Amino acid sequence: MTEPGLVPLVDGVQAWVQPDGSWWINNAGVILGGDGPVLVDTCATEVRTRRFLAAVDSVAGGAPVRVAVNTHLHGDHTYGNCLLPESAVIIGHQATRDGLLADFLLANTPPIWSPSPEWGALSIRPPAVVVHDRITVYAGTRPVELRHPGHPAHTQGDVVAWLPDDGVLFTGDLIFHDVTPLVFMGSVDGALRSLEWLASFGAAHVVPGHGALVPGADFEAVLNVHGRYYRFILETASAGLADEISPLEAARRVDHGEFAAWPDDERLVLNLHRAYAELGDSEMDLLAAFTDAVSYHGGPLRCAV
Ligand SMILES: [Zn+2]
Repeated sequence: MTEPGLVPLVDGVQAWVQPDGSWWINNAGVILGGDGPVLVDTCATEVRTRRFLAAVDSVAGGAPVRVAVNTHLHGDHTYGNCLLPESAVIIGHQATRDGLLADFLLANTPPIWSPSPEWGALSIRPPAVVVHDRITVYAGTRPVELRHPGHPAHTQGDVVAWLPDDGVLFTGDLIFHDVTPLVFMGSVDGALRSLEWLASFGAAHVVPGHGALVPGADFEAVLNVHGRYYRFILETASAGLADEISPLEAARRVDHGEFAAWPDDERLVLNLHRAYAELGDSEMDLLAAFTDAVSYHGGPLRCAV
């Protein structure tokens, strides 16, 4: 599959999968239950969100979107919120609402990506209902549990959507499938700890935030490779701190091993900035981290949004 499209998982539940899952190209979902669709996330740009909403319309028989869940604050999952009907209720973690209200990227995109994302006519619309720990939304009679891992991981406010009757887990960006994971706005240690929690759902179908769908039988292997990557970040950061070299230098000198083949390899620099801050108990400078990632990459980052 090379074009974005809906992929049926179980009756009434479909994943919106957007290859190739690189910067700003996310996955989302639609859950039907007889009283208007429940969405999991929107998309980054007006064009991509309108394409998703048209596909939702075709499977929902034109019923207006009733609820949309934001798995976290990043624009690839939330910038399209403003295209939803005004009557739709958007739900996310408190940190997702707070972070979106402080967003500066949409209105003032720094020259980090090339070409710069073409957002279209979008404005920030944050969740109006917030989750702290968990909440259950019903799509008709189908429960959709929104659960927070209890600590920062990919971001401060990650929420998964778990359909216990269907065995479907929408992980948001707690999972990047064969795409370099990004944890610089959350916690490397927290992301590592979230893996056991993700495994505990016993999901039969996993929709990652980026990359191809994961059948339940393959999930353990996918969780294991995330664990190896997070430990690799922490070990590289410890060694770099001990040798008093910068995150950029640490990323340059280390062999990226099995992770080198993943798209967006430069994210190691961003992740190391977070690990340095965590291990050294210091603040992370977001723009300095991006500047280093662009240096590592040898120019603005790849963007096909
Ligand atoms: Zn994402």
